[in-house]
Amino acid sequence: MTAPSPKIDLHMHTTLSDGRLTPEELVGLLDRQGVDIAAVTDHDSTQGLDAAMAAAEGFPRLRLVAGIEISADHPTDERSDVHVLGYFLDYHNDAFQQRLAGFRDERLYRGERMVERLLEQGYAVEWERVLEIAGDAGVGRPHIAQALVERGHIATVKDAFNGLLNDEGTAFVDRPHISIAESVELIASVGGVAVLAHPLYVPGYEALIPQLAGFGIVGFEVHYGDFKPDQRRDLERLAERYGMLPTGGSDYHAMGHEGEHLPGTVGPPAEVFAELEKRAEAVRAHG
Ligand code: AMP
Ligand code: ZN
Ligand code: FE
Ligand code: FE
Repeated sequence: MTAPSPKIDLHMHTTLSDGRLTPEELVGLLDRQGVDIAAVTDHDSTQGLDAAMAAAEGFPRLRLVAGIEISADHPTDERSDVHVLGYFLDYHNDAFQQRLAGFRDERLYRGERMVERLLEQGYAVEWERVLEIAGDAGVGRPHIAQALVERGHIATVKDAFNGLLNDEGTAFVDRPHISIAESVELIASVGGVAVLAHPLYVPGYEALIPQLAGFGIVGFEVHYGDFKPDQRRDLERLAERYGMLPTGGSDYHAMGHEGEHLPGTVGPPAEVFAELEKRAEAVRAHG
């Protein structure tokens, strides 16, 4: 008899970015889902981690990893961004937190400009309402999408991304990002390791993957809910070829739409997680 493999999920969001569950609610769900190891990875923020860690103390079998998902510039495609996941962060660090606060300020400015563009195109939403929806989170397109749905302009959040808010959309406004290398440095500055999120959503990922090690990235997501078995097999091979750890997770947002992957239903095997943790220890050892 072999021990059952642990349930590991290294990608999920809370109300501190564009997820719909509070950190406490998410941790409760992780327990009900029987998850053993989970990383909370809010966009450009670690503000949910203290509450998540505190809540997790009530569930001794659950191990929470301090994570983040940073939006970085795509190296060649101006309108796209690349999401860099960071794990094992010593996030109580003033310089690090100031940097993240700067990202949230940029999100405010850019969000307001998107709302202006929407108004010009006949989709009036109140900026105040967007701020309310975002709550404690940095303003993101999903919050604006929700405001559009509430006002009856658009049927679903997904539809709002179709032509209006997507990267090629008529109301899209970009915001300044840091480079991939800088995001890796920022993560390493608090003792963390960096992994590329959902490579299949990155335009030109075939050209990017061979460069990842050069940026200091140690892996990319292979075990990702929306990737099909044959896509995962191809990514697994690429990971092997370029010495990248095949990580992954559900990217759970609690949007409640059909087919949403629940926490713990997708993620990397235990050996991959163990290796990821070793890499983080190496980052710390090299200061
Ligand atoms: P932002 O960080 O404000 O640029 O918004 C990006 C977020 O919007 C992503 O992390 C996703 O959660 C969401 N998103 C991006 N594209 C789509 C899409 N086509 N459909 C639904 N949600 C999307
Ligand atoms: Zn998100
Ligand atoms: Fe992402
Ligand atoms: Fe995500």
